[in-house]
Amino acid sequence: MDRDIKYLKGVGDARAKILASELDIHTFRDLLYYFPSRHVDRSKFYHIRDLYGVEMPYIQIRGKFLNFVKEGEGRKQRLTAAFTDGDRLCQVTWFSKIQTIAGMYRPGVEYVLFGKPSFKFNAWQFVHPEIEAYDPSRPPEGFRGIYGLTEILRKRGFTSRLMQTLTSNLLNTLSLDKIPETLPAEIIKERNLIPLGKALLGMHRPESPAHLQKAMERLKFEELFYLELHILEFSRKRNLQLKGHVLTKVGEAFNRFYSSVLPFPLTGAQKRVLREIREDMRTGRQMNRLLQGDVGSGKTLVAFMTMLLAVDNGLQAALMAPTEILAAQHAVTLEEWASRIGVKVALLTGSTRVAERRRIAEGLKSGEISIIVGTHALIEDAVEFRNLGVAVIDEQHRFGVAQRARLWSKSQTAPHVLVMTATPIPRTLAMTVYGDLDVSVIDELPPGRKPIQTWLRYDDNRNEVYRHVWNELRAGRQVYIVYPLISESEKLDLKSAEEGYQRICEIFRGVSVSLVHGRMKPAEKDAQMQRFVSGETRILVATTVIEVGVNVPNASVMIIENAERFGLSQLHQLRGRVGRGADLSYCILMSKHQISADTKKRLGIMTETTDGFLISEADLKLRGPGDMEGTQQSGLAFSLKVSNLARDGQIVAVARDTASRILDGRMLLMPDSIAVINRELGVRFSRSIDWSRIS
Ligand code: ADP
Ligand code: MG
Repeated sequence: MDRDIKYLKGVGDARAKILASELDIHTFRDLLYYFPSRHVDRSKFYHIRDLYGVEMPYIQIRGKFLNFVKEGEGRKQRLTAAFTDGDRLCQVTWFSKIQTIAGMYRPGVEYVLFGKPSFKFNAWQFVHPEIEAYDPSRPPEGFRGIYGLTEILRKRGFTSRLMQTLTSNLLNTLSLDKIPETLPAEIIKERNLIPLGKALLGMHRPESPAHLQKAMERLKFEELFYLELHILEFSRKRNLQLKGHVLTKVGEAFNRFYSSVLPFPLTGAQKRVLREIREDMRTGRQMNRLLQGDVGSGKTLVAFMTMLLAVDNGLQAALMAPTEILAAQHAVTLEEWASRIGVKVALLTGSTRVAERRRIAEGLKSGEISIIVGTHALIEDAVEFRNLGVAVIDEQHRFGVAQRARLWSKSQTAPHVLVMTATPIPRTLAMTVYGDLDVSVIDELPPGRKPIQTWLRYDDNRNEVYRHVWNELRAGRQVYIVYPLISESEKLDLKSAEEGYQRICEIFRGVSVSLVHGRMKPAEKDAQMQRFVSGETRILVATTVIEVGVNVPNASVMIIENAERFGLSQLHQLRGRVGRGADLSYCILMSKHQISADTKKRLGIMTETTDGFLISEADLKLRGPGDMEGTQQSGLAFSLKVSNLARDGQIVAVARDTASRILDGRMLLMPDSIAVINRELGVRFSRSIDWSRIS
């Protein structure tokens, strides 16, 4: 299994290099674990009259072309052909390589068409299907894996078929029952799983749908089991090693704030979460809690009251934000509350002047400053606390585990950590992605919020959209206009926002406009943002840099250009920038007219709901958790090959249960099995378990 892939028949040095650089495939094992992204059924030919639904899976049809017609001009040109299986007709369309294709297929010859039909304009359509001449002497292919390939691999001649050939060569060389088992025998028996060799064969060359099904079941379980084992063991260790401050007092600061400063009652969810936090901090274990709450759900207040608990117990508290603007906004909010109960708050960011910085450093060391708000500057080495009791981190996905750990190292006893995020992640996913964090959820908005109106509009509705913007501007409101970030090219990115800026200045003559994009220096960016925050400028044209946390209650319109390029969670974050004041607010998603059915569905979800959890669940289902913000930076970076945390929630639960039974000694394993687990953890996470610590 560990042999270099270059020794596999059909690979060699050159191909081995590309496989390594593009797909991280270095060994036989790597190739076997590079699974098809989906499977297609080539065991039978469909009849056109048997097609159903609006969209079908990939299928094949046998038949003949009747005629070819070129339509349109220039870039809009396309080629269509009628294709018949002898009974009914369907249509085949090509948008590129038209000249070549037109001359390639002859009427009267029998072909096999393979693709994903969709029903449009009253007919079944195939767009750019795979086409081969029908060869009656070839045996039917059965199930076939379709492998995900990168652009570079395609250019270098890799196809799904080549990948099939390579995996077939490999499966033929290995004797499958000799592939070392990766799961303990006890678990295989308990879960009634098929052996590894049979499962690998089932993924690449299934004999039947049932075989594929069993293969998936086995490999998903394996993947999730090791993931859960890894995470659970990690957090057990942390719990054993770290002792937290014991915060028993609810004292003067908290009570005075609650009874005489707090201008509104807490929501039920805020109360519940505060109870959870207090419970954590009372027990002597160190709190590590993820606080999820939709934008505007009032997380900052919960954070502040948590910090007051620290202050009441003679400890300090820190609030860390991802940008200077956010840190400054938080500082203003907290200062307003804290000054009324005699608690001292300071702000420390990268642009804090040297003299001020020195004063703050002294205040933190002496304990005179109770609450510090800041950016990354807080985890710089020069900052020393007298006794940091609570650290709050706003917007998890910009801070990784490593940075959290640096905060811990700031004091003898690790501070309690509260991580706040508005990126709503379903619970099963959160427990796994942030495995070592407990989760609290604020699932209720403060009363009296007006739901944001969300519209989907196309380029030809622009005038209507701009008229609406004028109305809002005249009513004294402010407006955001956001352009997508094109990550491959910062230049292009700059261009789209800058061009947008020019256009907006021309359309809204006499209105002051700010421009913020990723290539500006932080100071310049902050200055532009500040002009908008203060109301000096009325329109803010920006790339996604404004995504997190900025609070301008007077802004009532959020226009998102090329909305189809954004993920749903990102759109939701952006939308959360409006609807913060008392007025009715609008989010307008601008998109090109030609968007796919999928995209329409995606954007449709945005217009139908403002519930962040529903949205993130939909996002997860549509895009898979690999793309989720935060997974990369969570510090438990892993990629799932067969399972999907959103869809396989049930397997996650069973895998987690199995792992925890092993860790707490409820499931006893033979020494051989323990060796299997350690070897596999080593392969997957470069580590093993210290079994002497298992109870
Ligand atoms: P987020 O969770 O997005 O950080 P904030 O903490 O910024 O939300 O709160 C949004 C707004 O709601 C703030 O103006 C805050 O003062 C207000 N708010 C928070 N809690 C309540 C509450 N229980 N009742 C009314 N308004 C609240
Ligand atoms: Mg916030």
